[in-house]
Amino acid sequence: MKHRSLTSLFAILLLTTVVKAQVPGSAIDVQHYTYQLQLSDANDEIKGDAAISIKFLKAVSSFKLDLVKQNAGKGMLVSSVKEDGKEVKFSQENESLIIDGAAKAASIHTINISYSGIPADGLIISANKFGHRTFFGDNWPNRAHNWLPCVDDPADKASLEFIITAPAHYQVVANGIKIDEKAIGNDLKTTHFKETAQLASKIFVIGVADFAIDNPGTPDGIPVYTYVFPENKEVGFKSYSVAKEILPFYISKFGPYAYKKLANVQSKTRYGGLENASAIFYFENSVGDKGIEELMAHEIAHQWFGDAAGEDNFCDLWLSEGFATYMTNYYLENKYGPDTLKKRMRKDRVTVLNFERRSKTPVVDTTKKNNLMALLNANSYQKGGWVLHMLRNKIGDNNFWKGIRAYYAKYNGGNAGTDDFRRVMEQASGDDLKPFFKQWLFTPGTPNLDIQWVVGEDGNSGNLTITQQQATPFVFNIDLVINGQQRSVPVSEKVTKIKTGKPGSLSVDPDVKLLGSFAVTGPPGFTYPR
Ligand SMILES: [Zn+2]
Repeated sequence: MKHRSLTSLFAILLLTTVVKAQVPGSAIDVQHYTYQLQLSDANDEIKGDAAISIKFLKAVSSFKLDLVKQNAGKGMLVSSVKEDGKEVKFSQENESLIIDGAAKAASIHTINISYSGIPADGLIISANKFGHRTFFGDNWPNRAHNWLPCVDDPADKASLEFIITAPAHYQVVANGIKIDEKAIGNDLKTTHFKETAQLASKIFVIGVADFAIDNPGTPDGIPVYTYVFPENKEVGFKSYSVAKEILPFYISKFGPYAYKKLANVQSKTRYGGLENASAIFYFENSVGDKGIEELMAHEIAHQWFGDAAGEDNFCDLWLSEGFATYMTNYYLENKYGPDTLKKRMRKDRVTVLNFERRSKTPVVDTTKKNNLMALLNANSYQKGGWVLHMLRNKIGDNNFWKGIRAYYAKYNGGNAGTDDFRRVMEQASGDDLKPFFKQWLFTPGTPNLDIQWVVGEDGNSGNLTITQQQATPFVFNIDLVINGQQRSVPVSEKVTKIKTGKPGSLSVDPDVKLLGSFAVTGPPGFTYPR
């Protein structure tokens, strides 16, 4: 029984490896949030009671949470902070709640915060397109602290509960599983949702509206729900039901789904979609939109990448958006065939090159800490997706998917940086991927190639010259089809010369495997099919 005991020892080691889920250097690591919120039809004020369980990583005499204070009629006013029923001193400054409470290192305290106010942002209270009142959380990137006291940073993850009291005509959806719903008199209803997985504040959510609800299926034991406005019921139930195909496809490719349900919700999000864990919000007119399958494939992919395995810093946003972009292309490749992937990669390449003309920044961009919205760009999305595509081609399908599964298994419930992802992929492939990651993710730009083909001196051969025109030469292989014969040409220097037969026809990167731009010239009569 030797092997068995070794195996179980290994399993214990794996289980006790805790992935990082707190802000580096911070004194506090939130363990659990319970938010009790009262919403009304009379006005936009919310009343909140938050119970926040905090583990102290260092001894402190005071600590702070993120919460926007009242200003010009909006924001949150804290009326009391308590621990074990005893008042604790506190103050509010701009976007911080400072709590004067001493705590020892490694101790866990639960703090109760009572507050109220009209959210300036984060919880959108407005009429939908049919004129009905709705409440939709919309936290990305760090707007949660407009309505929820929290550590509003993707690095700190915690489990959470929402206990929502609202007029009884509303349906409530939130992260996690509905564990209770009861009428409490006065035409009010309390709905309790609980999520046991670790979530970042960017994907905490509630949605409160008059909804029509459907359950199009329960693939792999995960109930899929549709929440749409009753006026859009017929079209909405049909168009959102494609989620029941996407979910099991991803489970088979990435590994188990991290949550206990998947709700797809028509909402008032400012984005096209927002990947709130287990309760994805889509823009109001997404119902019946022709891009709905693509949008759902993107947001559902985030449940693994971005939500369950998150980025520990917004400068690594490509670990969310590049993944969701590429996994969407991969899903569509599998459903509609390899030409669909090629077509989409070509389109994404154009988007990257257009963006690159305006912005000389690398994908991992540490310069936008104060302007996180600016990270929603072609570098994070399409170039991030292209990096995964090139990595897949470089290390092969088997190693690539082995690595993706290992990365998800390791960081599910925690957070990773770009180097963490690289190490997992190096382990899966056995390759040193530092140069690859450095040039594609930490260096601005892409190969800008001038390809010239001329007739050789003997009149019967050819010389093909590839010149890298961008500032930093890249190392890559480029596929060329020269006079009908395909070859993979390694390029590492500024200028690469190859001997060919007499110039006839040339095709560059026919399988769409290289992110770059190509200008091709040749002698009269040569053909360059695009
Ligand atoms: Zn996304």
